[in-house]
Amino acid sequence: MTSKENEAIGVSVSSDGPRPCKRVRLNTPRSSTRTTALAESNHAAKSAIQSTSTQSKLHYGLFEIARPLGSGAFGQVYLARHRESCLICALKVLNKENFMCDGKERHVRREIEVHSCLRHPGIIGFYGWFHDSSRIVLILEYAIGGELFKVLAREDHFSEQRAAKYIAQVACSLSYLHKKHVMHRDIKPENILLGLHGELKLADFGYSVHAPDNKRETKCGTLDYMSPEMLVRGTVSYTNAVDLWALGVLTYEFLTGWTPFADNTVAATRRRICKLDMEPLPASISPEAKHFIHSLLVLDPPTRLSLEGVLDHPWIVKNCKSPG
Ligand code: ATP
Ligand code: MG
Repeated sequence: MTSKENEAIGVSVSSDGPRPCKRVRLNTPRSSTRTTALAESNHAAKSAIQSTSTQSKLHYGLFEIARPLGSGAFGQVYLARHRESCLICALKVLNKENFMCDGKERHVRREIEVHSCLRHPGIIGFYGWFHDSSRIVLILEYAIGGELFKVLAREDHFSEQRAAKYIAQVACSLSYLHKKHVMHRDIKPENILLGLHGELKLADFGYSVHAPDNKRETKCGTLDYMSPEMLVRGTVSYTNAVDLWALGVLTYEFLTGWTPFADNTVAATRRRICKLDMEPLPASISPEAKHFIHSLLVLDPPTRLSLEGVLDHPWIVKNCKSPG
């Protein structure tokens, strides 16, 4: 595949392409670090930071930085404490020199615009933001359990019951987003974090978009999770059904430990996605789980299972009603 084609599907790492993705390969090394116990952020402190600190009053010196939590395309995320309120939070520090070119600042502006309007227990809280000459800083709820990606890497795959419970949680968060006319467009285990009680929280709204007409044309996301309608050549519009496709890929990955279409090259993976050339599911996977995955990984977007259909599907219902 040429660099132009890579760029067109949003996986370029060149300086003039869209935001590079963390994962386009089949076997991305998965490291794991345990988070240490820290006091859960308290509600009063969150309100304090939100109400007393307008953007102009906020600055880096108000926070004590503890340690890095992760890194992304434009900067780093740190565990931090707001000195005055003792709020424990995550600071997503985006270096201006990394994105102030070729319209990439649009990503950051959009991330702030979209994320700041969201309030849901299944979505990382957005407390505020500020900027100085060299960086833009997002103040976020700290997810003490870290990335689901690392948990999955450690455990290889999840039981059907655990996978179904996780998928139901992601579906609830997506349902909230879609009702607010937001497409996430980058659903993957790296962008799902865990709270104190193991609950899932969607993060990283860098590719999200508010689309009241439920139509978009920009090709973006992480290749393994991108839908066929986004990968076809030329300008083709797509809907929020792209998130449902990603939910199908996620279910497959939870149950097997690998993604269904990954191949050695970007071009080969793209071809497999567009032809629905999926790695066969292991025989140990239940027929209900297989039916669930095959109802989401459907080439024709309108016939894909809806979010209501996801929550009503026998595989989800059966696994979510029992404890554990
Ligand atoms: P990319 O474009 O590569 O996905 P990004 O720049 O958009 O990255 P994020 O995905 O938001 O950055 O964050 C990068 C990593 O930092 C996450 O994968 C996660 O490990 C960690 N991280 C981000 N936000 C939090 C948070 N609120 N609590 C704990 N860890 C976080
Ligand atoms: Mg990310």
